Amino acid sequence: MTAERSMTTEIGGVGQLRRETNRRLTCEREDADRALSKRLARGEQRVDEKLHKSRSDIDAKIVAAGDAAHDQLEELPEELPEALNGAVLSAENPRDPIPEPGFEPGPTAEQETIERVEEAHSRARSNAQAAVQQLSEQAELALESERRRVDELTQRDREQRKRDFLEALVSERHATDDALQEERTRVDFVTRNRDDVLAMLSHDLRNYLSAIGLKAELLAETPPDNLVLSQSLADQIIKSCKLMERWAIDLLDIASMDSGTLAVDSRPHDPADVITASLEAYLSMANRKTVTLIATGVPQVRPNILGDQPRLVQVLNNLLDNALKFVGPHGTVTLGFEVVGGFVRFFVTDTGPGIPEAEQGLVFERYWHTERTRSGGSGLGLYISKRIVEAHGGQISVASEVGKGCTFVFTVPVAEASLGVRP
Ligand code: ADP
Repeated sequence: MTAERSMTTEIGGVGQLRRETNRRLTCEREDADRALSKRLARGEQRVDEKLHKSRSDIDAKIVAAGDAAHDQLEELPEELPEALNGAVLSAENPRDPIPEPGFEPGPTAEQETIERVEEAHSRARSNAQAAVQQLSEQAELALESERRRVDELTQRDREQRKRDFLEALVSERHATDDALQEERTRVDFVTRNRDDVLAMLSHDLRNYLSAIGLKAELLAETPPDNLVLSQSLADQIIKSCKLMERWAIDLLDIASMDSGTLAVDSRPHDPADVITASLEAYLSMANRKTVTLIATGVPQVRPNILGDQPRLVQVLNNLLDNALKFVGPHGTVTLGFEVVGGFVRFFVTDTGPGIPEAEQGLVFERYWHTERTRSGGSGLGLYISKRIVEAHGGQISVASEVGKGCTFVFTVPVAEASLGVRP
């Protein structure tokens, strides 16, 4: 019943997730479209401004050239009156004697001068007008060709921008499609695994319960003097209870993490206490499995860490549990810690089969496991450990070489001003 309800919630959860990612994708696309359109509009505006400036520069140059030509032209009449005045004055007041009556005067030198000056003036004027005319025609042509050039550049620039815009849009679409596809594949994988785990959980729980019931009945029927059998039955009952307890704790942790209430009660304490607590919990299991469990020397000068001790022991226990599970008989598991900057770094190293590189990033995912390594685990241990470490402000990671084993490390912040010598 509980499993059924959980699965329904699960399926509802995936639908919800899909709707959420679709909604996010739509929003992201709208944002991207808006940003790109804005960029395009800004680009167009810049091109228009450049075009406008370039045109005003050319216009100003042409106006300046026209003004200069006009100025030259304007200067001519001011020079002329003096020359003309001189000529006119000499014509009106001749210095030569008055000619005899009947004398037909030819053009005097002054009149000739006046005529020459007037001719020169008129020639200069029409030359200057022709020059101004030519200049303004040239300027008009230059302006026209400059405009055409700027128009072509602008057009090319606009087309390039449009191409860039479309390319950016297409690549952005591909990127979001890829991200969505990846997320969906991951969600499908997690969902499938979670469904498997829930099916496995209900199956295992029933098995554990019937095994416990059966062994309890056998224990009740065992003669009191058969202590070996009673002890063995009691051990099996305890083992099944522990496995069920582990499942229950993991599922409870997940439930509280999902509801955002993962309690972490951080206080300053000695990191060596975390190592001691885990060692005590796993020494006898290591002995039973003929695995050598070693704790490296604890540094005499060490800081306190700021953390929730039972939660940190839970993380170290998860790592030790896995290491002992995978290492096999006669393997070695080493645990310890070192101080790195403002953090204490705990580590658990084993000589087991290791984890392929492609799987190293996945082992911290919820419900993650492979058929190769599946051994009744929930696939939640490392996920929960990661969440606990992150709730402390630390990080957890794994390094491994297949066939040689792996090393899990996690960091916990040092409590301020806590470096001290311990007894
Ligand atoms: P489980 O409870 O199923 O072990 P975990 O989250 O603790 O779940 O581990 C997830 C998976 O990570 C395991 O199923 C296994 O594939 C891999 N793994 C974890 N620790 C080790 C290790 N020390 N050596 C090899 N594989 C490991």
